[in-house]
Amino acid sequence: MLRALTDPTRWPLPGGCQICLAWGRTRLCGDCLQRFAPPTPRCPRCALALRGPHCAECLREPLPLDGSVCAVDYAEPWAGLLHGLKYHAQLSAAPALAELLAHAVRASGAPTQGVQLLPVPLHPHRLGERGHNQSQRLALALGRHLGLPLAPDWVMRLEDTAPQAQTPTREARWRHLKQAFALAPQADVSGRHVALVDDVMTTGATMSSLATLLRRHGAASVQAWAVARTPRPHD
Ligand SMILES: [Zn+2]
Ligand SMILES: [Zn+2]
Repeated sequence: MLRALTDPTRWPLPGGCQICLAWGRTRLCGDCLQRFAPPTPRCPRCALALRGPHCAECLREPLPLDGSVCAVDYAEPWAGLLHGLKYHAQLSAAPALAELLAHAVRASGAPTQGVQLLPVPLHPHRLGERGHNQSQRLALALGRHLGLPLAPDWVMRLEDTAPQAQTPTREARWRHLKQAFALAPQADVSGRHVALVDDVMTTGATMSSLATLLRRHGAASVQAWAVARTPRPHD
């Protein structure tokens, strides 16, 4: 106890809203949630914001996912928090963003029974560079909120794929991602219900590639849960 009080590295971080820094008991204050995360109807399959009764993207080419949940569109102020978590190891953002995602999962009614959380893995090079996997941080915190376990390291990332923004077309991204992941030798995914967890769902190509791999090895269902969704370019 005394050590906890005298060792500054063990002091709890100051509380307050991660966005406006208003002092309070919550990591995201009600004002910020209302302003920056208003309830938005989203496509249950791809999590894009719906502009009408049907999702035009999924009518054209549905993603191979049993469902997707994203809490917000990828825009400020969330983009800044996500960037800080990913590149600057601002770990205090993880519990707040996971709470936001947990709320979205509950509100969406997505099935959670028997679900195991699988963070989208990083290539070992990237992991070495950054020192942590932001998706793993989010999945850990999300699991605590939803009472769901983390899946073992079922999947390995074989290719250090280029950031998706630099890969021009959907077809090119899919080609690129097809061989990016492999199942770990000891993985037993047969009959499992999996929710992939990531910070940002950009095109859905990464999630789809993982889902296809898991399905091929017998996974019963694969959902995609991410904090933020990149809107369609014309939105
Ligand atoms: Zn706030
Ligand atoms: Zn859709």
